[in-house]
Amino acid sequence: MTRLSAITPSGSVQLGNYLGAIRQWAAEGTDEDVYFISDLHAMTTSHNPSRLRALTREQLAVLVATGVDPRSVSVQSDLVRELGALTWVLECTCTYGEAARMIQFKEKSKGRSSVRLSLLTYPVLMAADILLQGAREVPVGDDQRQHVELARALARRFNGTYGEVFAMPKAVVPPTAARVRDLADPTRKMAKSAKDSAGTVFVLDSPDLVRRKVRRAVTDDLGVVRYAPEEQPGVANLLEVLAACARKAPEEVAESVKGYAELKEVTAEAVVEELRPVRERTRELLDDPAELDRVRRHGAERSRERSRHRLDAALRVSGL
Ligand code: ADP
Repeated sequence: MTRLSAITPSGSVQLGNYLGAIRQWAAEGTDEDVYFISDLHAMTTSHNPSRLRALTREQLAVLVATGVDPRSVSVQSDLVRELGALTWVLECTCTYGEAARMIQFKEKSKGRSSVRLSLLTYPVLMAADILLQGAREVPVGDDQRQHVELARALARRFNGTYGEVFAMPKAVVPPTAARVRDLADPTRKMAKSAKDSAGTVFVLDSPDLVRRKVRRAVTDDLGVVRYAPEEQPGVANLLEVLAACARKAPEEVAESVKGYAELKEVTAEAVVEELRPVRERTRELLDDPAELDRVRRHGAERSRERSRHRLDAALRVSGL
């Protein structure tokens, strides 16, 4: 059962990406799965070409350094020709109304004077990502569920109109993984492209920087260490991070910590130790471009091989 997940190089990899997704991909993924760096998606809003290229490499290195099976890892743009072709065919299967109905588009385009057309059409590219690889399961949060539904609708319509080409994908709930919130504003999730990075721990941050950010995490004035996400979101977030690093439940780690100062110390050290090997291995990989290039090339070849017959069939049955 092929699973497909992606990370967008819109910023450096942050702790939430690592604890919530990448570490799971390393622990539970198989070489049948598809984990890719979605650099094409990163171009739907204003982007800087050299930064995009550097972030793509960095994310690839973090995935491999974390232990995600290198055979399952690829970079989206290495298949840009295939994806471009399939996206066009799928755009000819999709209506304008369907694309314009996407909540993500409405939210991301709100209040902007200039919106790239690709922001409207990227769910169709996402459908191409999924259908090209024959992915059956797409673990997504609520914000992406509608896009997977669109991929299903397009697959069903295409198959019904032209002939059975695509496997039917479905959105699945991601395996229970930590939800990490912004340390400076625990009402928001930690994100790599946050405007103010004071509350974002990046996987490549130095140990001292990690400690400083965790020590400055927003808590509350109740002074009680217990796992109560509604009433104490800041404390609950630290407990969640500590628990994810210790591979225990937040309620359990709460019992072993006395005050907020101790909670921050223990959490900071747990994060530093959790990230240390990943950071070091990522640095090694970034210093060894030949190894990273090899992983990237193999990933691209594998994805291309796996999907060639599906793309050929899609073009053929639609009259091309
Ligand atoms: P970001 O929000 O940092 O831009 P992406 O959209 O590229 O992240 O998501 C990559 C993966 O990381 C997804 O599987 C997503 O669910 C996961 N992820 C992102 N932020 C967090 C977070 N704060 N906590 C847990 N998982 C997260």
